[in-house]
Amino acid sequence: MLFDLPTSGYHYAEYALALISLWLIFGAWRMWRERNAASRLDRASDAGSVEPPTLHPIINAEKCVGCGACTHACPEGDILGMINGKARLIEPSACIGHGACKAACPVGAIDLVFGSARRGVDIPVVSPNFESNIPGLYIAGELGGMGLVANAIEQGKQAIDAIARRTDIKKDAKKDGPRDDVYDVVIVGGGPAGISATLSAKQNGLTHLTLEQEQLGGTVAHYPRGKIVMTRSAHLPLYGRVRLKRVRKERLLALWNDVIAKTGIVIHQGVRVERITPAAGAFEISTSSGTAVAKSVLLATGRRGSPRKLGVPGEGLSKVVYRLDAPSQYRNQNVLVVGGGDSALETAIALSQRDVKSITLCHRGSVFDRAKPATRQRFEAAVRAGPINVLLQAGVRTIEPTRVLIDRAGTTHAVPNDVVIVCAGGLLPTLLLDDIGVSVERKFGTA
Ligand SMILES: Cc1cc2nc3c(=O)[nH]c(=O)nc-3n(C[C@H](O)[C@H](O)[C@H](O)COP(=O)(O)OP(=O)(O)OC[C@H]3O[C@@H](n4cnc5c(N)ncnc54)[C@H](O)[C@@H]3O)c2cc1C
Ligand code: SF4
Repeated sequence: MLFDLPTSGYHYAEYALALISLWLIFGAWRMWRERNAASRLDRASDAGSVEPPTLHPIINAEKCVGCGACTHACPEGDILGMINGKARLIEPSACIGHGACKAACPVGAIDLVFGSARRGVDIPVVSPNFESNIPGLYIAGELGGMGLVANAIEQGKQAIDAIARRTDIKKDAKKDGPRDDVYDVVIVGGGPAGISATLSAKQNGLTHLTLEQEQLGGTVAHYPRGKIVMTRSAHLPLYGRVRLKRVRKERLLALWNDVIAKTGIVIHQGVRVERITPAAGAFEISTSSGTAVAKSVLLATGRRGSPRKLGVPGEGLSKVVYRLDAPSQYRNQNVLVVGGGDSALETAIALSQRDVKSITLCHRGSVFDRAKPATRQRFEAAVRAGPINVLLQAGVRTIEPTRVLIDRAGTTHAVPNDVVIVCAGGLLPTLLLDDIGVSVERKFGTA
C-alpha cells in the first residue's frame, strides 16, 4: 500500500486540509498566470504588436476547455496564454507558425490561419508543383505561405525537381549541353529554400544562378543571437540528412557554410533582384549588378521584403547597414540612424543603452508621427537621458568613410561617422509578384 487510508475523523480533517491548501495554491498560481498573460497582451496592444506575421492560431473560445495544453506545446515560449479560462494569443507578433498548439489541442479548438480581420496577407496561388499562373515562374518557402526552416528546405528541392522534369529544359540540356547565356533557372534568395533549391539544381545538372540580396542564411541570419531554432531533420541534396531538432542559429548558419564548402554550390551574395520580365519564352532578370536571362525562375525570397535604400552617394560603403543586429558591436563608435518610424527610434534607444560614442538620429519629418506612442515615450526619455542628438527636417546628402554630410534648413552639416543604420522601411515581399502579374489570394484570417 502506497499510503495509509485515514482511520479516524481527525485524519479525514488533515487530508481535507491538505487538499484545500493544494487547491488554493493551484488557484492562486492560475490567477497569477492569467494576470501575467493579460498584462502581456495589454503591452503587445499598446505597442501595436497585435498582427501575427505569418501562419498563426485562432482559438474557438466556445470549444476551448481551458486545459492549457497549447500554452505548454508552443516551442517559442509564452506566445499563448490563458485569460478568463480560455487560451489567447498574447504575443501575436512573435508567433512564427510552428503549429504545435493545434496539434496539442485535445478538442480541436485551434485553426491555423493567415492574416487577420484587419490585415490581409497576400499568398501567391501556385500549383502542386509550385508553379505560379506565370508559366516558368515558381515560388517556394515562406513567400508561398509555408513557413519554417524544414518546410522551406523541402519546398526548394521539390520546386527544382519539378523544373528539372520540364520537357523543354530536359531536351535542351541533351541537345546543347549547358549554356551560360540562358540559365535553366535563376533562384532568388539564399535562405533555407534557396540553398536547398541550389543544391537540387546542381544535382539535376541544371545551369543555374542563385542571387541573395544580403547574406547567406535568409531570415535565420537575423534571429536574435543564440536563438534556439526548432526544426525537424531534413534531407539536403548532395549533402545528406541533417538532424537538427533544437539548434542555435549560429550552428545552423555554420551548417550552410559547410554545405557550400562540401558541395561547391555558389550563392552570389549582395545582389538584389529588382525586376523580372517575361520575354519570348524566357525571363529577363534585372539585378543590382546586371541582367541575366533564364528559362525559369524560382522565387525563394521569404516574406521580410527588401530594405528601402536612401539612394545617396556613398551608400555602397560597407559601414552602411539596414538593421541593428547586435548593439554591442557599435561600442565607441559614431553612429547615424536614419528614419523616423518605430524601427529607427527602437534602434536609437537600444544604442543609447550601450557605450556608443555618439548617436545622431536624422529624420526628414518634423515629428515622429509614424511611431507608436509607447515607442515615442521611451525615445523621448532616452533623448532626455543623454546621448541622442536629434536632427529633424534633415536629409542625408552624402556618406563618406569618416563622416556624413546632412542637409538641414539650407545648411550642410558634417557629422563624424563610423556607421550608418538606415531604418527607412522596406519594400514589400510581394512587390516582385505584383510587378510580374502573379495571382495572389488575400487572406483575412483564413487557412
Ligand atoms: C524571429 C523568428 C524566429 C523563427 N524561428 C524559427 C524556428 O525556430 N524554426 C523554424 O523552423 N522556423 C523559424 N522561423 C521561420 C523561418 O526562419 C522561415 O520560415 C524560413 O527562414 C523561411 O525560409 P525561406 O528560404 O523561404 O525565406 P528566408 O529565410 O526569409 O530567405 C529569403 C532570402 O531571400 C532574400 N531576398 C529577398 N528578396 C530578394 C531579392 N529581391 N533579391 C535577392 N534576394 C532576396 C532575403 O534577403 C533572404 O535572405 C522564425 C522566423 C523568425 C522571424
Ligand atoms: S489546448 Fe485547446 S482546449 Fe486546451 S486551452 Fe488550448 S485551445 Fe483550449
